[in-house]
Amino acid sequence: MASWSGLESLSHNFLTGRLEDLVRWSREHSMWPATFGLACCAIEMMAAGAAEYDLARFGMEVFRPSPRQSDLMIVAGRVSQKMAPVLRQVYDQMMEPKWVISMGVCASSGGMFNNYAIVQGVDEVVPVDVYSPGCPPSPQTLIHSILTLHEKVRTGEIMRRRAGGGAGAGIDLTEQAPQAPGWVQPLPTPVRVGTPR
Ligand code: SF4
Repeated sequence: MASWSGLESLSHNFLTGRLEDLVRWSREHSMWPATFGLACCAIEMMAAGAAEYDLARFGMEVFRPSPRQSDLMIVAGRVSQKMAPVLRQVYDQMMEPKWVISMGVCASSGGMFNNYAIVQGVDEVVPVDVYSPGCPPSPQTLIHSILTLHEKVRTGEIMRRRAGGGAGAGIDLTEQAPQAPGWVQPLPTPVRVGTPR
């Protein structure tokens, strides 16, 4: 029979568990998406947060207005070349650990916009964890993607970090100095596309 010496004085029940499991559980149930809609897919994303589909069931109804308070980026819609550096900057401002869902065929592959103006897959700009298929994905599909990501977080490495230049297009953003009145904005530099992973 096991010896319980030293525990007799405990007058309450108690549970034991692994710290890793507690961290995974809390991350899984407290994801806050960034408020970041790019095109028509964003309407479905908003519907997922409304009463009928109720993302609040998963602790996720709070879409944060600041990337510094968000750990999930849902890329909802097509990404234009002009928007890609902005998207990357928002991603860089989110704190680790952070995750990305590519919502819809446009975000995942450019979709029907096979042209010079649209990034042909947001994984050229940020590392994607889950791809949500459809045009647009329904709120149910998005929720399925979110639950897939939850499962990934629950079973994944808790200390995983993305290498500084190990994902995305390696876009270097330089801060623009204030300009004198009458200054004309030069044409934007095209996004430099990284090696496909
Ligand atoms: S996948 Fe469809 S709904 Fe989503 S941004 Fe593209 S065209 Fe719009």
